[in-house]
Amino acid sequence: MTDAHSAIATSHIFHRSAGHVPLRARFGEGAWIVDQSGKRYLDACGGAAVSCLGHGDPEVVAAIGQQASQLAYAHTSFFTTDAAEDLADLLISDAPAGLDRVYFVCDGSEAIETALKMAHQYHRETGHPERHHIIAREQSYHGNTLGALSAGGNAWRRATYETVMVPSTSHIAPCWDYRLRRDDETVEEYGLRAADLLEAEILRVGPEKVSCFVAETVVGATLGCVPPMPGYFARIREICNRYGVLLILDEVMCGMGRTGTMHACEQEGISPDILVVAKGLGAGYVPLGAVLCSQDMFSAFAQGSGAFMHGHTFVGHPVACAAALAVQRAIRGRELLSNVQVRGAALRAGLEAALGSHPQVGDIRGRGLFQAIELVANRETKACFGPAQRIHAEIRAAAMSSGLLVYAMGGTLDGRAGDHILLAPPYTATSNEIDIMVSGLAGAVRTVLGTGH
Ligand code: PLP
Repeated sequence: MTDAHSAIATSHIFHRSAGHVPLRARFGEGAWIVDQSGKRYLDACGGAAVSCLGHGDPEVVAAIGQQASQLAYAHTSFFTTDAAEDLADLLISDAPAGLDRVYFVCDGSEAIETALKMAHQYHRETGHPERHHIIAREQSYHGNTLGALSAGGNAWRRATYETVMVPSTSHIAPCWDYRLRRDDETVEEYGLRAADLLEAEILRVGPEKVSCFVAETVVGATLGCVPPMPGYFARIREICNRYGVLLILDEVMCGMGRTGTMHACEQEGISPDILVVAKGLGAGYVPLGAVLCSQDMFSAFAQGSGAFMHGHTFVGHPVACAAALAVQRAIRGRELLSNVQVRGAALRAGLEAALGSHPQVGDIRGRGLFQAIELVANRETKACFGPAQRIHAEIRAAAMSSGLLVYAMGGTLDGRAGDHILLAPPYTATSNEIDIMVSGLAGAVRTVLGTGH
């Protein structure tokens, strides 16, 4: 029996891949994870854009211990807690204008599910029960629970579950400069054209039936750090206002400081009706997601039925909230957003210098410490590699064997073809660590694709 086979036979975990047991991670230290054999990996993607404070932060660890010994759990039908109240106060204190209430859940999918249901019930509370249709975007990812998966436009992730998707959902094209802007358009013209697709879809469905529009402010996992074009979200906001459609921004991956501002939508100059965050909220110390909604939305519930028909056992978990409070205080108190801006600029410049002229790197894009490269077989035509080549997986494996963790994904173009590699280092990353990430990724690209010259 090979080592791999004996590992599969002895593990009782239902791992992601039935034929593969991952290495065991032993401990983490700042931006590094150390495996069972003592090999060190620079975590250039925070797992999946999660570990924004790095590993082993003593203040967060202390906050978890303190809360766990004081009160680990109290059901929210009986009690609220200081941890949850203080975290909500902090989140609202610098939230986009108009957001006033926070609903805590355990992760990004639950948060999206909550947001969709909140929008749905809001319309019932305000006398519009016919508003139930969800509009989202192709090539987006909103999570793996059925509602979130239905809103998501990732064909590969949806395929197995098409028969059980939420029926009243439709998708418009994303705002994607690299592949969808015409040569005769400025970025501004394209931004408006892409946004106007929403209006066309609302009119097609019937404005009186549309509940909400859901979008990632900067598209993460599925497209690889694609920021919106100038004016796109301002026009989206206008269209939502015109037709009474709620705007839900999914900042599960791109939010909580990742792009250099606390919320990615700040850079667009707009506020959503509902903002969804997770990942960086608890920085991986705890699983936690949150839904921030406007005062207007909350009032509709308060003056209507009085209760949101929703809820989970672990809503507002005190230990999770105490950990996230320590994380969020650290981000603000240690001025880590300026580090995201400075290191983000260095990461981008480094990627451009190392890979910008590589013939198989079609695009380098992103914001702050949220940067990606898109790989192409031909830079002129932007043709993708065949899906069977699994170029992204090869690069990920080459990077990992050299001690670098990167987030690699296929299906960039349409859920099948296309490859990108995403980097999302901790906000605490040093200049030296950024250099190692750049040279490590460039080395992995060259290992798999050659120098291209
Ligand atoms: N929304 C976005 C934008 C995401 O990137 C993800 C996860 O990658 C989710 C939602 C789902 O979050 P979770 O995996 O925590 O359920």
